[in-house]
Amino acid sequence: MISIKQSEKSFERAKKTIPGGVNSPVRAFQAVGGIPRFIASALGCRLVDVDGNEYIDYVGSWGPMILGHAHPSVVSRLQAVASMGTSYGAPTEAEIYLAEKIAELVPSVEKVRLVNSGTEATMTALRLARAATSRPLVIKFDGCYHGHSDSFLIQAGSGIATLGLPNSPGVPPEVTEQTISLPFNRIEAVRAAFDRYEEQIAAVIFEPVTGNMGVVVPPREYLSQLVEIAEENGALVVFDEVMTGFRLALGGAQEFYSLHPQLTCLGKVVGGGLPIGAVGGREEIMDLIAPIGPVYQAGTLSGNPLAVAAGLETLRILEEEAPYSLLAKRTEALCEGLRVAADEAGVEVQVQSCGSMFTVFFNSEPVIDFESARKSDTKRFSVFFQKMLEKGVYLAPSQFEACFVSLAHDEATIAETIEKARLVLREC
Ligand code: PMP
Repeated sequence: MISIKQSEKSFERAKKTIPGGVNSPVRAFQAVGGIPRFIASALGCRLVDVDGNEYIDYVGSWGPMILGHAHPSVVSRLQAVASMGTSYGAPTEAEIYLAEKIAELVPSVEKVRLVNSGTEATMTALRLARAATSRPLVIKFDGCYHGHSDSFLIQAGSGIATLGLPNSPGVPPEVTEQTISLPFNRIEAVRAAFDRYEEQIAAVIFEPVTGNMGVVVPPREYLSQLVEIAEENGALVVFDEVMTGFRLALGGAQEFYSLHPQLTCLGKVVGGGLPIGAVGGREEIMDLIAPIGPVYQAGTLSGNPLAVAAGLETLRILEEEAPYSLLAKRTEALCEGLRVAADEAGVEVQVQSCGSMFTVFFNSEPVIDFESARKSDTKRFSVFFQKMLEKGVYLAPSQFEACFVSLAHDEATIAETIEKARLVLREC
């Protein structure tokens, strides 16, 4: 058994002044049990905890670290920029370069507003969609996550086209009543909602490839029909590419599927590991934002020099190295290794992946939506997670999350992970 005494001590101490001991809920390991590791440092694809244990990291800060941790050229850009001041509350030229780069790389984006998180990006996209259409309602999908703003914190509807009920105290039903949650991957549900609510729907927002119920890769046909139905009905299509942006391809899922939304939400990779988000889209919609338009949106630290520098450097390297087929190849090798290991051990799993995102579902059937994801054996997943952690592999601490492969995960690391999984799966 590895020692985690210092993490235990820190967790106890943290709980006294931080609710639940963490600043974002999944970090607390509630879904899998056990003690969250307090991290001391990270380099490449490895994390080191405060007890000195090393882990191969497949969380990658939940997506941003596509280059691996502490990439030398990102670190040196940050050092250079930090020494010139970290925030001015006034425009900088680097913000123009990042906006131009996003507009160049993401096919549907003409103009972009930088914010500080994915949550802010999706919240702003909704406000813009409602303003642009003068309509109140928004469609989302069960199991898709779009951050923690009020409109998105709704329970999955009990039937098709059911208006949402809040799933968090503190969210007024008047807000969530404006959100319709539908089952993912079922186009009839979308048609039915448009039939029922006709010209009241401002936007359809979704993760084109989901990460937040685990990785579910919808057929292109479904996504293209979704786009078509929304457009026919005058609703805006919003791709939440906070996770998939610059991850599945330089141009995100929209390049991958070759589909164009009216609005795109970005985060994670675009900030290279610093806090950032972005919302972008067609010029006439984006120009509704203040100060040029009437839709209010603002941020003290928006576009701050550190996040912008880390983002620009990350995108520069991604553009230069064009690593997407390599990342997909390594991820597929890992997934195939995990499938074989599970098969040998007689454990039923669905290893689902897209590009460098993957999820090991302890499920006997392919996962296509939240309902099928929920049939996964979460107890077995927890055993797998804990045993992998004990062996030095840090997976996402929940069955319903994506894991991420970075450029720092070389073939030897992938092989090491598969070997550890082989041993662990025999005990699951
Ligand atoms: N949208 C998606 C698809 C996400 O995965 C996340 C975060 N996991 C968010 C929005 C919210 O982003 P943030 O945590 O930066 O607010």
